Amino acid sequence: PETARLIAAGEVVSRPLDVVRELLDNALDAGASRIEVEVEGGGLALVRVRDNGGGIPAPEVALAPRRHATSKLESVDRVTTLGFRGEALWAAAQAGHLRLITRPPDQVGATLLSAHGDEVQTSRVSAPAGTSVSVSDLFAHLPARLRTQQPAAAELREITALLTRYVLHWPDLHWKLSVDGEVRLLHAPADHRGAVASVYGPLNANRVLPVQAEGLGGVLSRPELTRPRRDRMHFAVNGRPVIAPPELEKAVIEGYAELLPAGQAPLCVLNLTLPPEDVNPNVHPAKAVVALADLGGLCARLTAAVRAALSAHPL
Ligand code: ADP
Ligand code: MG
Repeated sequence: PETARLIAAGEVVSRPLDVVRELLDNALDAGASRIEVEVEGGGLALVRVRDNGGGIPAPEVALAPRRHATSKLESVDRVTTLGFRGEALWAAAQAGHLRLITRPPDQVGATLLSAHGDEVQTSRVSAPAGTSVSVSDLFAHLPARLRTQQPAAAELREITALLTRYVLHWPDLHWKLSVDGEVRLLHAPADHRGAVASVYGPLNANRVLPVQAEGLGGVLSRPELTRPRRDRMHFAVNGRPVIAPPELEKAVIEGYAELLPAGQAPLCVLNLTLPPEDVNPNVHPAKAVVALADLGGLCARLTAAVRAALSAHPL
């Protein structure tokens, strides 16, 4: 049972990047307007995410690291939050050492929770409103898992890229990323163009156009700012940065028609808002790939919106 549990936990948290994603999702679900991420040792030594969101009321804190404990899910067919399985904190406590300090704004004292495996301790402390969650010494007691980790530098690149995507898709928040004590990314609330400036620099930001349509918002680059790779095409579905189905990328590129040289791709940040029942985030453990109903109709709307944005802002 011990082994089975560790394997199950390893499917939720298999690497530091998973911890970062899960903690970010929790902070966003908590309605935070300020999110700070600290990473040490490529994320294996420490991942800490602080938010100023709603916090967890004292009587409920001890439940948070229990398996399948979630305060969110109303129905599996209608997921309106980023988290819903109630497994992330549980898995983090199995795979490493979880520490959580949390206080709802209207509660006087904060709660400190420390969890390692199924050992959970809580105490009262004082802390600002919101939640700070840290996961340290990930896989320290799981040598087999530790051996399969990629080098810290490579993991860090992916963590930074993930954070970058959250900034692009959630530009109206305060964001901060520190790596081994050094600030790597800072963003103050802005629109999508401002987020492009924070991530890709002001030059790129000056060359993006707003795109707006029913259920769709974001920016895309003027045709001269294209590249042969699609690594700057970013899609989020109901706030979740996703690996877009290739059809969505194609639909955007199609909107440029002959404005885009063959084989080139634009920079774009597109937030899609779809009815929750049309989105199935359950096809992938990290929810990075989602299944969308009526992909064809969505693609047609996307192409039309891109075309409209480009003709509204002629060169
Ligand atoms: P899920 O997000 O799927 O509900 P998690 O294991 O990630 O499961 O979190 C368990 C519960 O702990 C959440 O449902 C939520 O009630 C609470 N929680 C976790 N992180 C935070 C946070 N940053 N702010 C407020 N509540 C949180
Ligand atoms: Mg969660």
